[in-house]
Amino acid sequence: MNHPSESVIRARIAEILTQGFGFSSFRPYQEEVCLNAASGRDLLLVMPTGAGKSLCYQIPGLARQQTTLVISPLLALIEDQVAQLQAKGFKAERIHSGRDRETSRQVCVQYLDGHLDFLFVAPERLAVPGFIEVLARRPLGLIAIDEAHCISQWGHDFRPEYRMLGQRLPALRPAPIVALTATATPQVQDDICQQLAIPNATRFVHGFRRTNIAIEVAELNPGERIERLRSILTPEERRPAIVYAPTRKRAEEIAEALKSYFEVAVYHAGRSSGARDRVQTKFITGKTDVIVATIAFGMGIDKANVRTVVHMALPASVEGYYQEIGRAGRDGLPSRAVLLHSFIDRKTHEFFFERDYPPSVVLNKLFDATGSAPIDSDALRRKTGIDSDTFEKALEKLWIHKGVLINSDQQVTRGTDHWKIPYQSHCEHRKMQLEYMTRFANGHSCRMVQLVRYFGDQEDAGGVCGICDFCAPDQITGTRTRSISDDEAVIARQILTALCSSDTAPATGRLHREHFDDKILDRRQFERLLGALARAKLVELYEDSFEKGGTTIRYQRASITTEGREVEQLDREALVELVQVADEPAKKTGAKFKKKKSKVTRRLGVENENQTFVSPKLVEALKAWRLGLAKSKRLPAFRILSDRVLLGIAEAQPTNEESLVAVHGFGPKLAEKYGRDLISIVEAHVSR
Ligand code: ADP
Ligand code: MG
Repeated sequence: MNHPSESVIRARIAEILTQGFGFSSFRPYQEEVCLNAASGRDLLLVMPTGAGKSLCYQIPGLARQQTTLVISPLLALIEDQVAQLQAKGFKAERIHSGRDRETSRQVCVQYLDGHLDFLFVAPERLAVPGFIEVLARRPLGLIAIDEAHCISQWGHDFRPEYRMLGQRLPALRPAPIVALTATATPQVQDDICQQLAIPNATRFVHGFRRTNIAIEVAELNPGERIERLRSILTPEERRPAIVYAPTRKRAEEIAEALKSYFEVAVYHAGRSSGARDRVQTKFITGKTDVIVATIAFGMGIDKANVRTVVHMALPASVEGYYQEIGRAGRDGLPSRAVLLHSFIDRKTHEFFFERDYPPSVVLNKLFDATGSAPIDSDALRRKTGIDSDTFEKALEKLWIHKGVLINSDQQVTRGTDHWKIPYQSHCEHRKMQLEYMTRFANGHSCRMVQLVRYFGDQEDAGGVCGICDFCAPDQITGTRTRSISDDEAVIARQILTALCSSDTAPATGRLHREHFDDKILDRRQFERLLGALARAKLVELYEDSFEKGGTTIRYQRASITTEGREVEQLDREALVELVQVADEPAKKTGAKFKKKKSKVTRRLGVENENQTFVSPKLVEALKAWRLGLAKSKRLPAFRILSDRVLLGIAEAQPTNEESLVAVHGFGPKLAEKYGRDLISIVEAHVSR
């Protein structure tokens, strides 16, 4: 094969851009990426949604003058992109489960005859016996893997069908691979390259800073959020808007509550595909003003003028969150992203986590019950006696981690026994994602800087955004947190004392009634403080319910934690230091608690402003150090340092002993033992 020179390739891709696509110029990084791919190099491209990633495989694919194979996870995305390419006059086709056999066969013939510029397939198609062999009969020009984060179990949208790519792709090489995604932390990037066996892929990680999205986070009880949402969306310039709800049911409720105010539609995976298409079209064409959706909505949506994205609960990961807010303001005009959340959201996530990730012992029991002889999954369930919901989850997880194999008849055989550590680290990873998300929500620095750092953007200078709730607090529509005042600390301690002396976990309503005069502390303020104590992990809150006249009445119970019991003895200043409370919305400040700041509070306020978001890389480094030490000492890792302290160090990035000891939970004793190690890890990270 002859190798055209760089200038020849440059001229060729420029011609395709203008003649083929009708665009006048490249967007940032597109040309460089196209040049690399057209020259045959493997690439990993991490750029936000809307940056124009598709062009980065389409142009080099055309420049290489052989068919480009595109692997994409969603049929709707495939259909959409094929239609767009066909409309531009390119020969694009697709094969997926939505098309009949005969059509697919014809597409194969076209491919084999060399008539196709692009062939789009869903990943599971590559598992169909004989399909890879058919593809391999002709050399491909380029292989594009769209939404490549789906291959990584560390990603936020892992799709098991993507796993097989690693095994199948070698048969289609030496065509260069271009992997594209809008969300991949450095860890996920590593995993994608490993899974796709492209260790030397050039990485382009760019463009995560969005300069026109003002990010705001407000802490609100679930019951207050719909009202707030309505007021957020009321000014006309805040619409069109996308509202993300945590569940389908909640999406329905929210839409119902909004429908007398706005043109609203609901979108979630529980609706028929016809209904979903209609909702989407109406939104894109401007007939619907507000779309209330679950996270099922939005992948591949091309609507430029979304003015506001509201999250009605804490998302499960920063990756998902960033992806969703990124749908605002594609036209570059001022837009807003508002996250409404409270401590209870985290509880909900934890509940689902426990449901979806059974403990290793359950997986082990299942694994032990399998062997080399195939066993029907129902029979396996009976044999193990695990209840059917848990069984299903456990089997799925075991399969994902290759502990069992499942054939097409759903018969199970034993796989490798290496699943345990990957499974546990996957669980750990999910928990960390939630931890990062919580930290982002409770963070105390520029929101955009936190996000850009999180993704490890290669060229971002790190300046503050100037428009988020930290940079421009007077612009916000919601609330933020602050350290509690001295007065609040007194009440916080009263709450802790009351809980200490209570044998059972009292209903919070009763707790308020029995210990506080409504005139001095109303229920709302009481709940707000309680929430703050829960966030500081001094108190635990959980939902309970009872049936009354056929309806379920939900209420909240509170109990004190071990840490709470210890703190009960502490002085007021220490308490002020520990507890952050949601600020009252602007119009209500000055009601009962004046923001009377103590010395400590003021000092904390200043410190908080300088706090940076935790860097996943630094956390990894600290964890690796902890693990090494734990192994050599034959101790569980948490006996060296708890996760919480470890994250505290990652957040504070202490480079001297004084600042290390200032990390909450880290005392002089620990500093003596590990201080030097930790400081040098942080220094190595900071100077990178
Ligand atoms: P991504 O995959 O990164 O989310 P797309 O590839 O779907 O983004 O591109 C988003 C939009 O930007 C599409 O409508 C595309 O046609 C347009 N676009 C991409 N590159 C250019 C360019 N160089 N000039 C003008 N429009 C572009
Ligand atoms: Mg795309």
